Amino acid sequence: MEDVVIVGAGAAGSFAAAVLGEILPGKKITLLEKTRQPLAKVKISGGGRCNVTHNCFEVKSLIENYPRGRDFLQSAFYKFRPKDMIAWLEERNVPVKAEADGRCFPDTNRSQTIIDCFLRGIEANGVSLLKEKEVVVVKPVTGGFEVVLKDGESILTRKVLFATGGLTRSYSIFEALGHEAVKPIPSLFGLELEEEWIKNLSGSVVKNAKIALKEFGITSSGPMLLTHFGISGPAVLKLSAFGALKLASVNYQTKVTINWTGLHSVTAIKEAFYAEKNAVENKKVILTPLFSLSKNLWHALLTVIAPSALGKNRKDLSRSEIDLLSEGLFQMPLTVVGKTTNKEEFVTAGGVSLDEIYPKTMESRKTPGVYFAGEVLNIDGVTGGFNFQSAWTTAWIAAHAISESLEN
Ligand SMILES: Cc1cc2nc3c(=O)[nH]c(=O)nc-3n(C[C@H](O)[C@H](O)[C@H](O)COP(=O)(O)OP(=O)(O)OC[C@H]3O[C@@H](n4cnc5c(N)ncnc54)[C@H](O)[C@@H]3O)c2cc1C
Repeated sequence: MEDVVIVGAGAAGSFAAAVLGEILPGKKITLLEKTRQPLAKVKISGGGRCNVTHNCFEVKSLIENYPRGRDFLQSAFYKFRPKDMIAWLEERNVPVKAEADGRCFPDTNRSQTIIDCFLRGIEANGVSLLKEKEVVVVKPVTGGFEVVLKDGESILTRKVLFATGGLTRSYSIFEALGHEAVKPIPSLFGLELEEEWIKNLSGSVVKNAKIALKEFGITSSGPMLLTHFGISGPAVLKLSAFGALKLASVNYQTKVTINWTGLHSVTAIKEAFYAEKNAVENKKVILTPLFSLSKNLWHALLTVIAPSALGKNRKDLSRSEIDLLSEGLFQMPLTVVGKTTNKEEFVTAGGVSLDEIYPKTMESRKTPGVYFAGEVLNIDGVTGGFNFQSAWTTAWIAAHAISESLEN
């Protein structure tokens, strides 16, 4: 009989295997992967660089980045948070650097560095990594579990750790063990808009946009990218993560309100216009974009909000034009007609219900001896390394809990 079978050699499963191999030398640990390529998502993550975590070290701020799993992760992060993952990697000769926005990458800028580090740990500690082994059923038996593979083989083990990611296909395995899975839906996507003029500005960046789904009371801010389908970029991805369930419920048909200026009130925007109007130098409105907007975007916004301002000098802007522009730049409603998949970072919301898992051990409340880690749980984060971090944290906790349980 094996001591531990880990199902899924993705981010969470491979990290758990590396940790378990180190803390349980001499135990029989097997890592099963249904495809030929372990850690496939890590390989392509962060554009091939692997945004391995975020340098957000305070638990209170950290949990704010998880639309689902926030409360569950709180105690977990006190045990293992980004600084612990960075230290773990650095102790294994993988230095990590933080970029200005807080995203952390291996110094090499290569996701392969992370993969090699995990695989070294797995190999050095005698963990068996078996590829092209898909688990189809897990049955409780005396003293543990029978893990049945698609090829008809079966493995007996004392403990099972599921790290199968966000795929629905594995859900029937957990359901047979008494678990209920929350239906998976996409998170982290761009919004497809009806307005053609936005699509014509594809490639334009708004450094600090504030965007809102007013219907649902969900807001977000940060850089926004205009694309050939509508809007994307960090602020939109964050909005889509927090609005994932609501947006799915209206089939991605709603209004999104854009504040193009990053300012907090219409009054502040008006003040900026009056400061320009009263400036000594008098230039054409169209030639002097405000709020760090690009010339192309400024031109389009003037055209949409107050076309009469297009040919005017700043001094000649009327009060009603300033009112109109301020209001339009502060809250412009646009029509959402669909969603797109963000190629850079795509995760699913949904998974095994967190009520059924002990957050201190990641063990099932339904079937003792079964553990879960990573995206298989109903946890997902915004972009920036937070999805990997929850995978590392849940995997580390599960590995340590399994080790304690086996030692006892
Ligand atoms: C393109 C892309 C880029 C991303 N970039 C980032 C990033 O830079 N930073 C970040 O934080 N997040 C990123 N993410 C999200 C991140 O990859 C996931 O959150 C993370 O991989 C989840 O880890 P996991 O181990 O739970 O699942 P996965 O990594 O998906 O691993 C699950 C594994 O289980 C295997 N499996 C499934 N079912 C079975 C079965 N029945 N039997 C055997 N094996 C099975 C699968 O084949 C897979 O290998 C990105 C995602 C994508 C798609």
